[in-house]
Amino acid sequence: MSKEKTAAQKLQEELFYTTKPAVDADPESFEKASEFCKGYMAFLDAAKTEREAAKVSEKMLQEAGYQPFEPDKTYPAGAKVYFINRHKCVLAATIGRLPLEKGFHLNIAHVDSPRLDLKPNPLYEDGGLALFKTHYYGGLRKYQWATIPLALHGVIYRQDGNAVELRLGEEEGDPVFCITDLLPHLSAEQNKRPLKEGLKGEELNLVAGSLPIEDQEIKERVKLAAMKLLHEQYGITEKDFIRAELEVVPAQKAREVGFDRALIGAYGHDDRVDAYPALMAEIGVKDPAFTTVCVLTDKEETGSDGNTGLQSDYVFNFLEQLCRCQGADKITAFKASKCLSADVTAAFDPTFPSVSEKRNCAFAGKGITLQKYTGSGGKYSTNDASAEMMAYMMDLLDGAGVAWQTGELGKVDEGGGGTVAKYVSKRDIDTVDIGVPVLSMHAPFEMVSKLDVYMAWRTFDAFNRAEK
Ligand code: MN
Ligand code: MN
Repeated sequence: MSKEKTAAQKLQEELFYTTKPAVDADPESFEKASEFCKGYMAFLDAAKTEREAAKVSEKMLQEAGYQPFEPDKTYPAGAKVYFINRHKCVLAATIGRLPLEKGFHLNIAHVDSPRLDLKPNPLYEDGGLALFKTHYYGGLRKYQWATIPLALHGVIYRQDGNAVELRLGEEEGDPVFCITDLLPHLSAEQNKRPLKEGLKGEELNLVAGSLPIEDQEIKERVKLAAMKLLHEQYGITEKDFIRAELEVVPAQKAREVGFDRALIGAYGHDDRVDAYPALMAEIGVKDPAFTTVCVLTDKEETGSDGNTGLQSDYVFNFLEQLCRCQGADKITAFKASKCLSADVTAAFDPTFPSVSEKRNCAFAGKGITLQKYTGSGGKYSTNDASAEMMAYMMDLLDGAGVAWQTGELGKVDEGGGGTVAKYVSKRDIDTVDIGVPVLSMHAPFEMVSKLDVYMAWRTFDAFNRAEK
């Protein structure tokens, strides 16, 4: 028999804000989350780079009936259109019942992830090995990238103008690539380095071959043997590396973690864990009130520069063209719009509790994180959503029964990080940060809770279906 609650207990329940595991509110949610995450895990394995994410997403959109966007057409409510920006970014929209002057509902996530890029002139031979020079992309902890199997993904343009796509190290039986580290027996000097320099940038050299070409009379026999194989398989010469984008990523597939299989470990959760749910919610929306737009962008990890990053006008050009199509005033449309700027946040790590402030950090398994601001030290470089926007979101999420929590990326002055939110709000659009909490963010193997992935989808879905 349950004990009668005291007046003080009731008062506490009424007045205090508490969070609980997402599964507490709906015991069936784990099963639904596991089902949803099957598709997510397949997406992770198929889309390890921004180019692959754009390609896989385009296929999903086409299969769902999306048509390539035509800037001189007028679209009826319910129409679904998409646009791929320079092979790397996805824009997908469903035309709403309301005029565009009532605003867009934007869901934005990114599909680039920290990795190692091959340098423009990467191949060399030293000590009887053929190696690739790399330049790391994004904020990664360099020492984590040695002695793990790595795969090579990307595109190379040949002299004849044809592109060769490469994806080596992913299939059973494929060779992989690897960065070396010192043996403990000889690492006395290296051990004195600060962790940040455990491996230095110029030490991230990828082993790519070891067999010399037969002719003993020439120099660089191992390099030549590697180049010969590349020429035979892909028709390329060394010069072609300069017109290439080759990305080195962890070779392992997404895996379930723990006896209960409630976590997913994988490369590239940041930010596919928001991108995939946003795309699925966009595909799922039928006849929305507001025009929904899903954006999967590139270059977030390096500051959103370049014409595939959010500091470029490409998203806003698309929105302006949509306004023109529908005969809507773009300034009014932008001003009335709302945006969920989705990106991962740090999950509380019990092994390193000192970096988080427990009352304001996110926990894996407690649902989507609704984050008023990101940035760092003194709220620099952040959108800082208004109380009004927070009120809108809390009402939306509570109304839809979505498990959510609040979050802050680390203690004040401990560090921090920005998102694309500020580049959206700059355009006079009400924006808020949301996202899935991640353990070991930016590592070759990051972890998230299946429940949080599912709640991310529920969040985008509720926002897309919103009537206000
Ligand atoms: Mn991110
Ligand atoms: Mn990141």
